[in-house]
Amino acid sequence: MSFLDFIKQYEGFDFKKSFDQVKENDIITALSGDNLNQSDFLALLSPKACAYLENIAQRAHQLTLNYFGRTIQLYTPIYLANYCESRCLYCGFQAGNEVKRTKMNFKQLEKEAKFLAEQGFKHVLILTGSSRKQTPVEYIRQCVEILKGYFSSIAIEIYALTESEYSQLIKAGVDGLTIYQEVYDREIYKKVHLSGPKSDHQFRLDAPERAASTNIRCVNIGALLGLGPWRSEVFFMGLHAKYLQDNYPQVEVSLSIPRLRPHKGKFEDVFPVTDQDIVQIVTALRVFLPRVGITLSTRENDVFRDNLLSLGITRLSAGSTTAVGGHTSEFDEANQFEIADTRNLAQIKQVLAEKDYQPVLKDWMHLS
Ligand code: SF4
Repeated sequence: MSFLDFIKQYEGFDFKKSFDQVKENDIITALSGDNLNQSDFLALLSPKACAYLENIAQRAHQLTLNYFGRTIQLYTPIYLANYCESRCLYCGFQAGNEVKRTKMNFKQLEKEAKFLAEQGFKHVLILTGSSRKQTPVEYIRQCVEILKGYFSSIAIEIYALTESEYSQLIKAGVDGLTIYQEVYDREIYKKVHLSGPKSDHQFRLDAPERAASTNIRCVNIGALLGLGPWRSEVFFMGLHAKYLQDNYPQVEVSLSIPRLRPHKGKFEDVFPVTDQDIVQIVTALRVFLPRVGITLSTRENDVFRDNLLSLGITRLSAGSTTAVGGHTSEFDEANQFEIADTRNLAQIKQVLAEKDYQPVLKDWMHLS
């Protein structure tokens, strides 16, 4: 059964009623068990679980130490291009916005790579908008060939690909995929993805599984918090990760919890997500999925990122920019969204050291 089939059992599911029916005892049971099921996870995400946040946080902290120790993996994003044919209402790069469009040529990319490698980065995440015309798979493949000379791990965050396209990029040196469903709720998905390749909900939802079936090393999924009611969105995100872990045990599965950030253009239909909600999200995910990696990006500010560390986070971005070529200021182009933590790699490493965490810059390298 594919994830698309698996998720069908929740069509028309009454989340409000299910969350209302959670009893205190359900939360206590979820906190004392080892292999949590979907009902346990739902209990941890419920409004009633707010009263147990301290207990959930303690359990999450202990599980994170058990499975990951005091280590945090570090990476930085590289925006290759901002051409986009999709109209996602929450994004500064959407096709409807008047933004100067650009993409890095190979010489510029080499300069960016050299700069980041000299700083000490070993893992990078490369990003494009969704434009097969301006940034075809072949362009991305050639970028990967260049980056391989500088970095030990290259992950992609690009438009959804077919299985054979994922295979091509894996063969070139890609070992990780980041792809966010953004919002699992179909109706909201339709409302916020007006047109373009990304408006195909099913093709995107199936993408992590397509990549996993080609034996990619790691898959990172997520929901953009704020687009839909967070409790049901995080529930689906957790089930999606568990499905991938159960069905593709050879793949390292991780989650991101990005929250909506200011960007060019207006998006007002935001479902609020408070800092306390984020704490409940991170800790509930950790208790439900003890082995899952959890990434916290620079969408969150420095103080909040530092405070969340011990509750379940395993990966941080550093020295981030959301502009094309933004690391070397080669371009003076638009940002996809504003970042909230502007610290560079050295500063993040220092904070980790002060908190007695080991920064991990390299935990894998290409086979060839
Ligand atoms: S989120 Fe991605 S696909 Fe959507 S508009 Fe932005 S860059 Fe394009």
